[in-house]
Amino acid sequence: MIKMVVVVKIGGNVAKEIENSDIALDVKSFLSRNQKIILVHGGGAEVTRVASMLGKEQKFVVSPGGFRSRYTDKETVEIFAMVMAGKINKQIVALLQKEGIPAVGLCGLDGGLIRAERKKKIIMVDERGRKRVIDGGYTGKINSVNADLLNLLLSHGYLPVIAPLAMGDEYEFLNVDADRTAAYLAGTVKAERLVLLTDVDGLILDGKIQPKLSLSEVERILPKIGPGMITKVYAAIEAVKMGVPEAIISNGLRKLPISSAVNHECGTVITGE
Ligand code: ADP
Ligand code: MG
Repeated sequence: MIKMVVVVKIGGNVAKEIENSDIALDVKSFLSRNQKIILVHGGGAEVTRVASMLGKEQKFVVSPGGFRSRYTDKETVEIFAMVMAGKINKQIVALLQKEGIPAVGLCGLDGGLIRAERKKKIIMVDERGRKRVIDGGYTGKINSVNADLLNLLLSHGYLPVIAPLAMGDEYEFLNVDADRTAAYLAGTVKAERLVLLTDVDGLILDGKIQPKLSLSEVERILPKIGPGMITKVYAAIEAVKMGVPEAIISNGLRKLPISSAVNHECGTVITGE
């Protein structure tokens, strides 16, 4: 029986700084206590940078609910795969390996780890504030996770490092949001904690960090939360609804960020009650 699983998502800015942080040390201390970690990473800014070097300027759309997402056409999803499942994923794996951590890099296609349904249409708000329906491109909504593969790796002491790329019904690459991926994985493996590490100390409301919020409290303040954070809040809600006791949004640029989030020394804790 696996004792305690913590799913940790590291945002793009945290992934970029991982070499100068003590995240690896923090991960090691969890593993040494026989607690398991699954790492999920983002890296959208790097995808945008490489895409523009390849002459493919990226477009972003904002939904009526305030979600900002990359417009992902065929060429974009290929670049997304190259950068996320290639460069960023392997850099994180190499860094963890260097610290003696048995990291295994995967994306949703490997071992059929993450299956998703391609979004046929998405609704966006244009510059004039009008709603428009556009083709969903190669973005997906996750509908299943191969928990057996994760448990196999975890039970043998490996640390899965997962890029947010899923496999569609026709085996196509799909861009899936990293926060939502982490939430879905946490719910599926019945994780004890979901930790979303970003570049701010937590959810800010009226200029103040919110230390703790219940599902009902957080659902009431959704309209006040801006892009970037709103995705994390929805991911936290999703994880808690899937049975994860606590989701914590915290700062990955601080010292021992996973421990301090789990110990409630930093961040916003979202719980069922
Ligand atoms: P990541 O790469 O970690 O996913 P994002 O930029 O997507 O980072 O999301 C984090 C950002 O969300 C913060 O840097 C902040 O600018 C923004 N944000 C919007 N609304 C809020 C809020 N209410 N509280 C805190 N951060 C917010
Ligand atoms: Mg983000």
